[in-house]
Amino acid sequence: MKQVFRFFAGAGAFLAGLCLAINALTAQQTVNAQQAMQKPLTSAEKRVIVDKGTEPPFSGKYCNFSEKGIYTCRQCGAPLYRSSDKFDSGCGWPAFDDQIGSAVRRIPDPDGQRTEIVCAKCGAHLGHVFSGEGFTAKNTRYCVNSISMVFVPADTATTTPGNAATPRAIETAIFAGGCFWGVEYMMQKLPGVASTEVGYTGGHTANPTYEQVCSHRTGHAEAVRVLFDPAVVSYETVAKRFFEIHDPTQVDRQGPDIGDQYRSEIFFTFEAQKATAEKLIGILRAKGYNVATRLAPAGEFYPAEQYHQDYYLRKGTQPYCHAYTERF
Ligand SMILES: [Zn+2]
Repeated sequence: MKQVFRFFAGAGAFLAGLCLAINALTAQQTVNAQQAMQKPLTSAEKRVIVDKGTEPPFSGKYCNFSEKGIYTCRQCGAPLYRSSDKFDSGCGWPAFDDQIGSAVRRIPDPDGQRTEIVCAKCGAHLGHVFSGEGFTAKNTRYCVNSISMVFVPADTATTTPGNAATPRAIETAIFAGGCFWGVEYMMQKLPGVASTEVGYTGGHTANPTYEQVCSHRTGHAEAVRVLFDPAVVSYETVAKRFFEIHDPTQVDRQGPDIGDQYRSEIFFTFEAQKATAEKLIGILRAKGYNVATRLAPAGEFYPAEQYHQDYYLRKGTQPYCHAYTERF
């Protein structure tokens, strides 16, 4: 389905382009807000981050650490790695086999042998990257100093909703609204969104593959897990974006994509999200939209295959069936 209907892309690409231009203004403000939150580096942090030192093996606080969340740059707050990409290399430093988007830049190390990794946004020294070691299927090991990162738990705001304005708290939102390539792309453009991941949820089988979900026998929807900073953007704004980038009146389809895996559904991660979603649906219904969006508590989220992640960012193309439409 996705391959056949690319020709629908024209109008959508134009609208998405407009949307991008509008949001570009506020992206820098987001970065500035993040930078303002950073405390000055300690001398130990400076020795690694600025002077490109290395912390002793097995000494860092994230070496033996497996909580769910994201790892951000200690110096500028940029999201660098996901806990889902972390693995135990036994080497004495935190290891990841993938990075978030293009958050990490590789440069030849002055030693002429290794490849140094730095934060793409601020240049902070992170560590080194190695390949061909066979630790995981991606065959890549980002070997990162703990001291260069700040871990942000995915459920900080979920467990303490009354504390949602705490700087650096990260909240999780999960949306299904048709092909997850397009939903992810449009969500990535929203200032305050720290990271996104496409996957499958809402069904009844464990570890589904894309082919299984397409077979309609798993009950799963194509969905996007959005991690955002509630100090920068509210859940209400994130949910409004969801309702304005897909057509919430369509049942078990989205444009050319037909099937229950393309249904419109919000998986709320705590009760306040549900209340907000109900309020927005009420507003849309009052405006005459026959909203088909379902609401369900978030269950297990299974990340999709790597080739589905950041699809449009990697391809450099625009979604074929998702574009911004003002509805509020
Ligand atoms: Zn940085």
